[in-house]
Parts: sequence; C-alpha cells; structure tokens
Amino acid sequence: MEEEGEVGEEYLFKIVLIGDSAVGKSNLLSRFARNEFDTNSKATIGVEFQTQVVEIDGKEVKAQIWDTAGQERFRAVTSAYYRGAFGALVVYDISRRSTFDGIKRWLEELATQNDSTVATMLVGNKCDLENIREVSVEDGKSLAEAEGLFFMETSALDTTNVQTAFETVIREIYNVVSRKVL
Ligand code: GDP
Repeated sequence: MEEEGEVGEEYLFKIVLIGDSAVGKSNLLSRFARNEFDTNSKATIGVEFQTQVVEIDGKEVKAQIWDTAGQERFRAVTSAYYRGAFGALVVYDISRRSTFDGIKRWLEELATQNDSTVATMLVGNKCDLENIREVSVEDGKSLAEAEGLFFMETSALDTTNVQTAFETVIREIYNVVSRKVL
C-alpha cells in the first residue's frame, strides 16, 4: 500500500456524527477508531475528531470523523461543526424512541447548515438492547428510505456493524468524489 501510494491523489473527507445526547456517538467513534468502549458518559464538552485511514481501490482515504462531544446537550451544535462535511452518521438509540423521533430535526439541521454532504447514514445504535427495543428495524428502514439515506443498526458495545457503517459512508463519498474528479 505504502509503496504504491500515488503522489497527487490524496483524499481527506470530513464526516460528522450527529444525534441526541447519549445515543452512543462517542462510543461508535472510539470503537471504530481505537476499538474501545466506555461505559461512562464523558465529562468534557467540546468538539473532537479522529482521523482514520481506510484503503479503497489501493488508495489511502483519510476520514476525519467529528464528534459533537456533548455540544448537543445544549442544542448548540455550531455551524463550524457541519462546515465542509462530506458525510454524516445520524444516530439514534433503538431503546429510546424519543431519540428516533428527534432524527428529523437533525436531518433538517444538517441540510440547512451544509450543502456538501454526499453520503448520510441513519444509524440505529445499541442493537444489543433487543429486550428493551422501542424502535423496530422496519421503522428505521422506512425512515431511511423516505429520506434517501443508508441505514444500519449497530452496537458500539458488541461491535456489530460499526466498521461497516463508517466504511460504507467513506466508500460512498470516495465513489462520488472520484467520479467527479475523473
Ligand atoms: P453520546 O452522548 O451520543 O456520545 O453517547 P456515548 O457514546 O457517551 O454513550 C452514552 C451511553 O450509552 C454510555 O453509557 C455508553 O456506555 C452507552 N452506549 C453507547 N453505545 C452503546 C451500545 O451500542 N450498546 C449499549 N448497550 N450501550 C451503549
């Protein structure tokens, strides 16, 4: 991979995580980037991002994935957060209906704040909590279909689909962007 690295073809995509507080955004990111899970809610407030490298078609594609890190608790996600994002993972918690009902508002905010998004994934996180599920898979699927989004249920706890969710978004951005470039 390193030896083949083509000069002049660098891909760096900004991707944002959005969704209500405590749906598992930070844990999805730490699971994807560091394969870690944290049971504590974090105390720090502020924007954080992690850069992850994914290989697509023999090319190194860097994804800079941003986490709200608590900003949404105050309904104050800044426009700088959204600016320049090519992808978004809009997350709810399958065991908390209110977080699913909040998705429309997040999608509206994303659309208002950003015109560069080319790939958005609706993510139903905490699918390990099947016994206390409040949002059916069907409800998730139909919302995603209606809004033209990718859809996946994930678990940052048991790792289900975490890799796939992020990589699907990264790959789709790459496909769209590289088609435009060529
Ligand atoms: P954020 O506020 O959206 O960033 O959410 P966090 O990542 O801080 O997670 C909120 C809480 O949900 C924490 O107590 C996590 O341990 C828990 N959590 C996150 N993801 C999962 C998951 O996939 N399954 C379960 N059971 N709990 C999770």
